[in-house]
Order: sequence, then structure tokens, then C-alpha cells
Amino acid sequence: MSETSARPPSVDTLARSLVGSGLPHPILVDLARQAIAAGSPESAAACADLFRRTLLTPVVNATGVLLHTNLGRAPVAHTQAARAKTVEFDLATGTRGSRQQAVGQLFAQLCGAEAAIIVNNNASAVLLVLAALAEGRDVAVSRGESVEIGGAFRVPEVMEQSGARLIDVGTTNRTRLSDYERAIVRPGNDVALVLKVHPSNYRVEGFVEDTPVSQLATLDVPVVADIGSGLIDANVPWISGAPPAWLAGEPAAVQTLADGADLVTFSGDKLLGGPQAGIIVGSAELVARCSKHPLARALRCGGLVLAALQNVALSYLDRTVTTDIAFWRMVDQSTESLRIRAERIVDAAGTGTVVDSQALPGAGSAPGVSMPSVAVAVDGDVLKPLRNHEPPVIGRTRDGRTYLDLRSVESDDDTIVIAALSSLAQPSAT
Ligand SMILES: *Cc1c(COP(=O)(O)O)cnc(C)c1O
Repeated sequence: MSETSARPPSVDTLARSLVGSGLPHPILVDLARQAIAAGSPESAAACADLFRRTLLTPVVNATGVLLHTNLGRAPVAHTQAARAKTVEFDLATGTRGSRQQAVGQLFAQLCGAEAAIIVNNNASAVLLVLAALAEGRDVAVSRGESVEIGGAFRVPEVMEQSGARLIDVGTTNRTRLSDYERAIVRPGNDVALVLKVHPSNYRVEGFVEDTPVSQLATLDVPVVADIGSGLIDANVPWISGAPPAWLAGEPAAVQTLADGADLVTFSGDKLLGGPQAGIIVGSAELVARCSKHPLARALRCGGLVLAALQNVALSYLDRTVTTDIAFWRMVDQSTESLRIRAERIVDAAGTGTVVDSQALPGAGSAPGVSMPSVAVAVDGDVLKPLRNHEPPVIGRTRDGRTYLDLRSVESDDDTIVIAALSSLAQPSAT
């Protein structure tokens, strides 16, 4: 080797050699500099590839977890032109309008309530409700519902941040109406509201009792129910056939309000099937107090999310949920149709076997339940080569086999699954 070729390339030359990665020049310069400093300029291309894979990337979710928290929960289709829109503009008067008007009225209609507002996520919704209605006062919560959801949403901590004081009621496994009544009348207490939290991601069994909203509604203070998942109606009128068994026990907005809750809060990106958002729906007076609180400004959504959520609400009102909303489209597929797709995939890829499977709603909704599904199974743990495929395919393993569950895969993506499985057979697979 000659002396000149042993000299490391210049940062600029090395960066230019990486343009094929598609990354912007300043990032390539950084990667090139780091690779040269580490004494291995030849590693720069691999570093560029690794960097590219840290960017937000569309993937095929073949985990069978329909609302996968790490994959963005509900998949949402949304495109829009770069055009001004009436986010805060009243077309009738030509003056400033309310950001909450358009989508709020649709959710109120959908849930059979007087009013609704939209914020950043359900954690924001609960925080705003507590701050607006109970700052400096007491909020009664059952000890069985003082829960942690999704790692960072902990009822006592949200309560603390809101400036409201948590009053624990009842015991971990049993809380009765009389426990709430005692907390409300106890001298020294100043109970502004009762908060009922759906313990979305776990289930207590055995000697348990909670107080239903219909009983809480007889108390002298407003009842706020955090139902979490965003199931709009327990009758699930937007799918063909009866409500699926896996939804039993999942609280729904329409019924919780009909039972007498004054406000209901839920997520936009769980069982609703929309973008990340938090919906507060219920009494016009209480919703108005929430929207007037200074935190409402800090927690509001942008026009992009509002537009996507408006489409979701219109799909529910139009009863086009199982065509328009990916989550419900996946739920609505028969196992027979999944089996046909699986057989086609196995035939085309020349590998794998068709097996029965169990898919999960995910996102902490309906814990401990699953829905029948069909998967393609291949021997060994091939998760990594499937992730390295372009576009990446995310599966799961059990007992030394890899499963690609088709209920969480859009049928349009079956060709990607076929290509990824076919590439496993190639010796070049990484
Ligand atoms: C998921 C969930 C939350 C948190 O909602 P985000 O939209 O993730 O902020 C709060 N409460 C309940 C009951 C939930 O299920």
C-alpha cells in the first residue's frame, strides 16, 4: 500500500462519498468527522445507515398488537395541502373564531354531550380538568384507581401537578359509595369533584368492588371519568355484527355520560383510532371552565391534529369507520380473510407456515384479552433481518419461532411481508 492511500480521506471527501444515504450534508460531515477521529473512516457508511434508521420510519407492524405504543399507537392516514384553514376563524362573521368549535361540536354530538374540547393527549386532558375545576381543593379518588398507566401517567403525580389535593377513598380492592360520601362531608375536606379512573392496563380479580358512575352521579359534587381508551359507544354500531367479546368491560363515552358523568376524558390514539389527542366531553359549563384556564393554551393541539381528528369524528358520524379508520379496519377483518392472505404470503415467499394466532388491542386497552388472528410462522429468531428489510417488518418471537401476525398488517403491505420473508432465504440476508 502506498503512503498516500494510507492517509485518511478528508472529512469533506468522506462526507461526499456518503450522499447515497440521502442524509443532509451537515449530518454527513459530522459522521465523517467522527469516523475519522475514531481511526476508522471505513465505518462511516455503516454509521450513516445507523443514523438514517434513527429517523422516524414507516414500518409494517406484524406484532399482532394493533395499537403498539412503540409504533405510534393508532396508525392514521392524513395528507393535506399547504393551505390556510379556519383553525381560529369564523367564516360567518369574518372574525376570530374558536379553535375548539369545529372538532369540539362533532365530539359532543358523537358522545351525546353538550360540549367538548380537544387537547394534546389524555394526560393533558386529566391535568387540565383537575387544574380548572379543583386547583387548591380536594379530589376524591378510589384507592383502587390511584394507578399508573403507560409508565409516566400516575394519578397522584398528575394530581400534584394540577394543584389539586388527592383524597384517597376506600381500599385497594373495594370502594363503595359510602366511602365517597364520608370523604365529601368530612370536616376539613373541600371536595371539588370525584375522579373515576379506568385502570386500563391491569385487572384486579377476586374480592373486588368499585362504585359505578351511575352511583357516583348521586353525589353532590361533579363526577369526572377518565375512561382512557376512547371507545365511543359500547354497542360498537360501526362494525358489522355484535360488539366483539374482547371489548366487554371497556368503558365507553356515550354510556359513561348517560350514566351521569359530568365530564369524560379519553385518548385520541387508542380505541378511537385517531391521532394523539385528548378529548374532554360533557357539561357545557365545566368544559367552558376548562377552556378558559391558562393551561388550555399550553395544552392545545395544532391545526394538523385537529384536521385529522375532525376526519375521524366525521367517519364515526358517517358510519364509515371500518373503511376510513385503520384500527377498526384491522379489527373488522374476518379470520378467514386473514388466513387467505397468510396462505398467499407463504406461497409467494416460498417459506413459512400458516398458524392460528391471538392479536391484542394494545395501548393498555382491554388488558388480558385477545382477538383471534392468523400469523405466518418461520423457524428461528429472524426479527433482526426483518427489521433490516426496507421497509422494516416488525414481528415477534416465541419458543424459537418468529411470528408475523396479519391482523395488524394492512393488506396492501402483504407484498412487503412477502419481499421480507423471501429475502430471509437469500444468503446475503444480514
Ligand atoms: C392511556 C390512558 C391515559 C394516558 O393517555 P395519553 O393519551 O397517553 O396521555 C390516561 N388515563 C387512562 C385511563 C388511560 O388509559
